[in-house]
Amino acid sequence: MNKTGLTGLLLAIALAAGCSKGTEDVAEQAADFSTVLASADGNAEVWLSHGRTYSEQRYSPLKQVTPDNIDQLGLAWAFDLGVSRGIEATPIVADGRIFVTATWNIVYALDAKTGEQLWRFDPQIDRSKSADLCCDAVNRGVALWDGKIITGTIDGRLIALDAATGRKLWDVVTVDQEKPYTITGAPRVVKGKVLIGNGGAEFGVRGYLSAYDVNTGDMLWRFHTVPGNPEKGFESDAMKMAAKTWKGSWWQYGGGGTVWDSMAYDPELDLLYIGVGNGSPWNQSIRSPGGGDNLFLSSIVALRPDTGEYVWHYQTTPGETWDYTATQHMILADLEIKGKKRKVIMQAPKNGFFYVLDRATGQFISANNYVPVNWATHIDPNTGRPVEIAAARYSSGEPYLQLPGPLGGHNWHPMSFSPQTGLVYIPALETPFVYGNDPAFKQSDVAWNVGTDSSFSSLPTDLAQFKAVRAAVKGQLLAWDPVAQKQAWSVDHASPWNGGVLSTAGGLVFQGNANAKFVAYNAGTGERLWDHFAQTGIVAAPISYSIEGEQYIAVASGWGGAFTLIYGGLFPAESSPGVGRLLVFKLGGDAELPVVAERHLRKPTPPALTADSSVLLAGKSLYDANCLVCHGDHAISSGLLPDLRWTPLLGIEDAWNSVLLGGARAAQGMPSFRSQLSKRDSEAVRQYVISQAHKPLEDALK
Ligand code: CA
Repeated sequence: MNKTGLTGLLLAIALAAGCSKGTEDVAEQAADFSTVLASADGNAEVWLSHGRTYSEQRYSPLKQVTPDNIDQLGLAWAFDLGVSRGIEATPIVADGRIFVTATWNIVYALDAKTGEQLWRFDPQIDRSKSADLCCDAVNRGVALWDGKIITGTIDGRLIALDAATGRKLWDVVTVDQEKPYTITGAPRVVKGKVLIGNGGAEFGVRGYLSAYDVNTGDMLWRFHTVPGNPEKGFESDAMKMAAKTWKGSWWQYGGGGTVWDSMAYDPELDLLYIGVGNGSPWNQSIRSPGGGDNLFLSSIVALRPDTGEYVWHYQTTPGETWDYTATQHMILADLEIKGKKRKVIMQAPKNGFFYVLDRATGQFISANNYVPVNWATHIDPNTGRPVEIAAARYSSGEPYLQLPGPLGGHNWHPMSFSPQTGLVYIPALETPFVYGNDPAFKQSDVAWNVGTDSSFSSLPTDLAQFKAVRAAVKGQLLAWDPVAQKQAWSVDHASPWNGGVLSTAGGLVFQGNANAKFVAYNAGTGERLWDHFAQTGIVAAPISYSIEGEQYIAVASGWGGAFTLIYGGLFPAESSPGVGRLLVFKLGGDAELPVVAERHLRKPTPPALTADSSVLLAGKSLYDANCLVCHGDHAISSGLLPDLRWTPLLGIEDAWNSVLLGGARAAQGMPSFRSQLSKRDSEAVRQYVISQAHKPLEDALK
C-alpha cells in the first residue's frame, strides 16, 4: 500500500467513525497502523486482518447481497493459483488489492476488482521439508501492516514484503531449522509487533509464540507454552508455574503445545489471546508419567502484547492425551448473559465442547458439547474442568473408540460470529477414532511421535465395515447459540472436512464444502439459497469486500490438508484435487470457470504378489508409521500425492529404493527415509503396497 492509499484509508475510517479531528491529526495518525486495525470494524469495504478485525468475528457488515437477490450472484473473476495441493488461506484486502497465499508459501497480490496479477513472491521452499509436514504444504494467509505484507513459511521463516511491489524487506528464521518445526498459520500484527507460532507437535517439538519488530524483523520476546528442562532454569515465572504440572522427563520429548493457528486481540483490555496445541507425544503416560495437568497444553492463554508477559490461562483439556488442541479459532464478542453484558472469548476446540469465557479474567462462564462426545460427561460449572469418562484414558486399559478423534469436533477451519443473529457458525466434524497404547513407542525426528497404536484406528478392509466407517464420519455446518449453549440449526454435509465460514449483514452465511460446492445459507434459518460448483473441494474460509459500491465475496478453492491425505478413500469424487483458485463473486457476475480436464488414474496391472504374510504384516506396520500420513491409509491416495499402488516404480525394486532410500524425488517433495528404513524395510513396504494394489477398496465400493 502506498502512503496516499494508506492515508486515504485512514481518512475513510476516521470519517466513518465520526471523527471530527482535522486532516493534520489524521495524517499524524497514519503513522500508527494500530488505529487502523483497532477500528477495522467500522471499515466494511476492506478485510485488513486474518479474521477481518482483531475480534476475529469473520462477520462482514456489507449487505448488498441478500437472500432476496442471491440468485443473481455470479463469478466476477477467478485466478489460478498454479498449485494442486491444499489451499487454506484467508485473503487480505486493502487499497484495491487482494493478497492470498498458495501451497508452498507462494504469495500473490491481485487487483481486487479484476483479478489481474500485480506481483508474485515465491520463497523457494526446499520441497524435502515435506517430511516435517503433518498436514500438507498449506498456509492460512498473510498479515498486513502499514504497506507491508508479512508471511510465515513452512521452513520456519517470517518474511516481510513491500505490499506495493512484492519486494522482500526482511527475512528471519524463527525456529531451530534442525528440528521439525513448520509454520502454516497466518501471522498477526499488534502494536507493530508481528506475532507468530509454529507447528510440529506430532514430531516432538516444544511450542512457543514469538514477537518480531514489523520494521526490522528483530525478535522482541518469546513465550514458551510448555516448560523445558528445569535444570536449565525457567524462561519466566509462567514456566516455573507450569513445570509444577508435569512429571518425569517430559522435555526429552519436546512436550508439544505448539501455537499453530489461532490468535485474537482486545485493544481495550490490551490482551493478546493464543490457542495452544496438543502434547507431544499425544500419549500422556509417555510424556508425563503419573499425570498432571501439563500446562499450557490445550489452553487459551492471555498475554501482554508488549512483553509476552502471562496474564491468565484456561485449560480446555487438562492432562491432554488425545491430540485435543485448543488452537482452534477464537472469537471475541460482547454478549448479554443472565442480564449482564459480558466481554467473552469463545472457542470450539477439538475436544467437542463449546466454551464461553470472560476474556478479561479467563473465568469460565459456560460450556456444552457441540458434537457427540464420549471422553467426558460434561464440564463442571464450578471448577470449569471436564468430568472424564475413565476408560477414555487408554494408556492404562483397553483401546477406546472415542468421539471426537484427533481431527476434532472442529479443526482449523474458521468459524464466524454474526452480531445480527447472535449465532456462531461452526464447520463441525464427527470423526471417531480408536485410541490405544503403543508400548513400542520410540522418539523419532522423522516419523510421527504420538504414542498411540495406529493399527487400532486403521480403516477396515472388510467392505461392509468400511462402509459403516464411512457412514459414521460426518461433517456439518452448525449454527450455535453461545448464550443458550445449544444448536439453533444445522446442515448435514456429504462428508467431513468442509470449508471455513463467513457471515454477512445481508443475512447470509457462506461456506464451501468437500463436494466442491460454494454455498450460501440463510443466516437465521440455515435454508440453502445458492451454490456454485468450484471443481475441487473447498477448505478455506470466504471473505467479503467492496469496491466502487459493489460487494464481492471471495474464497480460495483447493482440496487438501490432514484428513484428506490420510483418509483419501473416504471422500466424494467431486472433491478431487487439481485446481487451486481464488474465486470472486458479485451480483451480476457472469464469468465462466475454465473446465480442467478430469484426471484419470492409470491403473496398470500390479506386479505379482510373491511375499508371504509375515513380510506383508511388517510392511504394513512400516508403511503406517512412515508413509500413511501422506500417501493414505491402506495406500489409498487422496490424489494430492502419487497413489503408490499405481506408480511404475512399484514393479522395480531398485527404482523404488532410489526414491524411498536414495531421495531421487526429494526436489518434488519426497524425502529420503534412509535414516528410518533399511533396504529390507523398504522392500517390505513395496510388497505391502503391491498387496494393496491387488485389492483396491474403492473399486469395490463403486
Ligand atoms: Ca496435533
